[in-house]
Amino acid sequence: MHMINMDITRRRMVENQIVARGICDRRVIDAMLKVPRHIFVEEAMSAQSYSDSSLPIGEKQTISQPYMVALMSEMLQLAGKEKVLELGTGSGYQAAILAELADRVYTVERIRSLALRARKALDSLGYLNVNLKIGDGTDGWATEAPFDAILVTAGAPDVPGHLVDHLAVGGRLVIPVGSRSEQTLVRITKGENGAVSREDSIGCRFVKLIGRYGWNGED
Ligand code: SAM
Repeated sequence: MHMINMDITRRRMVENQIVARGICDRRVIDAMLKVPRHIFVEEAMSAQSYSDSSLPIGEKQTISQPYMVALMSEMLQLAGKEKVLELGTGSGYQAAILAELADRVYTVERIRSLALRARKALDSLGYLNVNLKIGDGTDGWATEAPFDAILVTAGAPDVPGHLVDHLAVGGRLVIPVGSRSEQTLVRITKGENGAVSREDSIGCRFVKLIGRYGWNGED
């Protein structure tokens, strides 16, 4: 598809899928308008880049539905100066959106081939504020903690306690929590004296968070 068509298609995606469903954070809307999602999708699927759904990216993994990316980004309440950790780089698309919304992004992917492809896409668009590591993200990123926000883009059986430890005071953790097949999007906020509050958002379906503090690979 021609680049101009992609721009038009992306604008329609934002109007019909993002704004029409109630996303109102102007910075999130602008990031979704700016980041070329088709760069993060395999060429064969390029025509579907802006469709209202998740898409396969290989290795039985997916790039999330655009609305879900926007909603999770809005729930993080980013103003621009934050240090953010993402678990589950996948295609790198969500990391690029976060790179537009925050100062520094740290992202972890357990599957090497996906991580390498994501790095390439992020580099091609000049996202130098994204640090990418291959490994089990459920361990967090101790040398860079604390984070103002943490986003988990795979479904977890529970909120991993030590990810909360990696949050700064006032920090937000957004994570899908539930069974292997269905989860609820949850936001944990860490208050003064380390107390945490939990808010539940919509139901969702993510691939599994596999790792020490997630599901085991065979589950
Ligand atoms: N954020 C991604 C994007 O924008 O394309 C979509 C993420 S996809 C729904 C979930 C990703 O989480 C998969 O790529 C999967 O390999 C990864 N993942 C699962 N468990 C993980 C873990 N423990 N650490 C790091 N990545 C993990």
